[in-house]
Amino acid sequence: MTPIHAATGTELTAKSWQTEAPLRMLMNNLDPEVAERPEDLVVYGGTGRAARSWEAYDAIVRTLRDLEADETLLVQSGKPVGVMRTHEWAPRVLIANSNLVGDWANWEEFRRLEDLGLTMYGQMTAGSWIYIGTQGILQGTFETFAAVADKRFGGTLAGTITVTAGLGGMGGAQPLAVTMNDGVAICIECDQSRITRRIEHRYLDVQADDLDDAVRRALAAKEARTPLSIGVLGNAAELLPRLLELDVPIDIVTDQTSAHDPLAYLPVGVPFEEWDAQRTADPVGFTKAAQSSMATHVAAMVGFLDKGAEVFDYGNSIRDEARKGGFDRAFDFPGFVPAYIRPLFCEGKGPFRWAALSGDPADIAATDRAVLELFPDNERLRKWITMAQERVHYQGLPARICWLGYGERHLAGLKFNEMVASGELKAPVVIGRDHLDCGSVASPYRETEAMADGSDAIADWPLLNALVNTASGATWVSIHHGGGVGMGRSIHAGQVCVADGTDLAAQKIERVLSNDPGMGVIRHVDAGYDRAVEVAGERDVRVPMQDG
Ligand code: NAD
Repeated sequence: MTPIHAATGTELTAKSWQTEAPLRMLMNNLDPEVAERPEDLVVYGGTGRAARSWEAYDAIVRTLRDLEADETLLVQSGKPVGVMRTHEWAPRVLIANSNLVGDWANWEEFRRLEDLGLTMYGQMTAGSWIYIGTQGILQGTFETFAAVADKRFGGTLAGTITVTAGLGGMGGAQPLAVTMNDGVAICIECDQSRITRRIEHRYLDVQADDLDDAVRRALAAKEARTPLSIGVLGNAAELLPRLLELDVPIDIVTDQTSAHDPLAYLPVGVPFEEWDAQRTADPVGFTKAAQSSMATHVAAMVGFLDKGAEVFDYGNSIRDEARKGGFDRAFDFPGFVPAYIRPLFCEGKGPFRWAALSGDPADIAATDRAVLELFPDNERLRKWITMAQERVHYQGLPARICWLGYGERHLAGLKFNEMVASGELKAPVVIGRDHLDCGSVASPYRETEAMADGSDAIADWPLLNALVNTASGATWVSIHHGGGVGMGRSIHAGQVCVADGTDLAAQKIERVLSNDPGMGVIRHVDAGYDRAVEVAGERDVRVPMQDG
């Protein structure tokens, strides 16, 4: 297979920047630097795909190259199914991925339909073409560990040891996020190639020879209060119980194996080399074995909780899989959103990101400077951007992520558009976000776990989010099911705008980048969060039933 790379520079391969942008971002998702398994169209997160098949990919590329400024391409679970006449304010691409009717929304039915070639798993930003490599999750992970440090360890992780597992597309951000907060991390991973890749990309510092070696190195670094991340090859369901037995002083425990999909979690007793063959031969038996291993894995996490460690589910639904595997204390520890992130969601904050279509890192450096000038008082933002500039290795098109809230995102978007218009940036910039955002997801084991009013499973919000972004002028909009936590457990939406330097783009950006985070504010006002009510009052977000 010839490796896919997005075009760079200013020469268009489609008819306008509004169609060139989704084309480059689709290709960028499948760049070998970005995607975990590009040969299978898999971008990240277990089997999150950018397109359903290579035929579908080729047809999407062909169609985008020819698409007019008043046409919209419809993509159904990674397959282009129609082109409709719309208008220039309409999105150029509308995407629906992995959606199933409630009673059918389980992995078994999904896989039956996938085997028939009728659907694909879109994860969050895989099938919606705004994955930017591990950096995409890095700031969220950095923010989460910073919140853990604030909550339990006096604002720093110096002198603490974190244990986690999974060094995949998302989980690979964990070691760097811990060391950015000055802590020590032991990261268990069963796939040697993932460990090697994270070391190459400087997300992981070293690999230990075995668990004992990892513990020795971790204890020495803890003692010296020196940041260090250590990869160790093995199965988390074996190594974590062993760490518990060894009585190592672990302060923080979490996990980012692909637990949301039991076929993407390696059960104890299955050699890594036989993983693929065994899950294909007997998916039902494999699922049971994986759930049973997850029960052992989560039992060890609860063991650390009982010893006083800070333990949280990092958004992969491992608690529910462990419950299915027969462990009844799986929900003793919380998910990371209610534990640390919800106050940010109340302000419309979430993982805002942009990518330079020029391919030139100098464009991102210029946007970094612009963001710091726009928000000079935001110390955490300054710390993040400074560290990201030093330590983040770009994968594919240069990109940046930072958490901005309601009243901030549109200012950044408008500034970038001006910089494109003036020539300060060499080419347009795409501006999007993760689906894991403040007002774009219903996911009762993650983003909407333990909502104040019990509305965890209400999925009207992501649908309204997609509708309002479509009505506001986003360039592409997506609605997915099952991302992050798996089939039946989430519904979520995404949007991407293109800052091409035109006045029309400025008008669209102002609306989308206000209304999109505005959804986060109103969602949390509706659920009864005081902070969201305050934010709505201070920043003029209109909520009819709050207006006096
Ligand atoms: P991935 O598939 O790229 O990586 C998962 C890794 O886990 C793989 O490298 C795999 O080898 C490893 N693994 C599987 N079973 C293992 C075992 N028993 N022991 C040790 N290692 C094992 O997935 P990803 O993109 O890194 O995502 C990881 C999980 O986090 C997914 O469930 C995803 O949905 C979730 N997620 C969380 C967030 C968040 O913000 N918290 C965001 C996105 C995704």
